[in-house]
Amino acid sequence: MDISSILQGGYQHPLSRQWQSKRQLTKAMLMYPIFISDDPDASQLIATLPGQSRWGINKLEGFLAPLVKKGLQSVILFGVPMNCNKDYRGTPADDKEGPVILAIKKIRSLFPDLYVACDVCLCEYTDHGHCGLLHPDGTINTAPSVERIAEVALSYARAGAHCVAPSDMMDGRIKSIKRALIDNGFGNKCTLMAYSAKFASSLYGPFRDAAGSAPSFGNRKCYQLPPGGRGLARRAIQRDAAEGADIIMVKPAMPYLDIISDAAQLTPDHPLACYQVSGEFAMVHAGAAAGVYALRDMAFESVDGMLRAGATLILTYFTPDFLDWLDN
Ligand SMILES: [Zn+2]
Repeated sequence: MDISSILQGGYQHPLSRQWQSKRQLTKAMLMYPIFISDDPDASQLIATLPGQSRWGINKLEGFLAPLVKKGLQSVILFGVPMNCNKDYRGTPADDKEGPVILAIKKIRSLFPDLYVACDVCLCEYTDHGHCGLLHPDGTINTAPSVERIAEVALSYARAGAHCVAPSDMMDGRIKSIKRALIDNGFGNKCTLMAYSAKFASSLYGPFRDAAGSAPSFGNRKCYQLPPGGRGLARRAIQRDAAEGADIIMVKPAMPYLDIISDAAQLTPDHPLACYQVSGEFAMVHAGAAAGVYALRDMAFESVDGMLRAGATLILTYFTPDFLDWLDN
């Protein structure tokens, strides 16, 4: 056989197989999405998201302490208001007694070294369930939406969030949030992570169950990106970088590895996040339960794809599992 035919000598050992990856998963790359209920004593399993719960702020210490001990370094918070008065502008989003603001303060005081990011959107708090404010005909009214979203982001920064992460997909919100942070003294205190390429995906179902954020009419296809829209995604990534995003995100991850790869090339000087969303997580679990593969192997394989595509930060519900698996 020719010398040039032989590759297997280079990866015959478990260690030399690891060297084939440009980047390997570390605990620092993991950001854990958690659902904060407005029932302070909640620890309520979410049926469609295996092993995940909605947590009340009184339960956060017991829930997070063991994870922090295992090396958890960052979380992203999603508010789940069960009892608030939702309205057209999402007023409860930045209620000072609401679950997210109370949770930011609580987590910062309990775990001073834990990085706290906050998802910013209005859909959990609007009576219509859309991510912005609406015109009478039901379409998005962009200017007041962006103004309101920036106000909410600033409230989370004031409460102590290290990072605000707008997921609404309204045009111009990155610039508006960055301006609000700078003008109020948070320009150098709070990171802005943009859900830049967020697609209108079928994979958000379990999240909407968990957060109670399904729209009451219509869908989100006029602001989230169409799944085939690679060009649009590229434009959105470049726009958000130009508007002041500190971190670029692609969401979902597994069906959009080409977009992650595009982002790595378009904005090579930014950290690049991807969100392995609720439906992806549920899908990996369902396949394992059906005997298609071993859960751990598939979880690693899914994340290896994201790293290979260029991601440097991964939001995933597998975070607690990875904290164990990376030790063993
Ligand atoms: Zn939303």
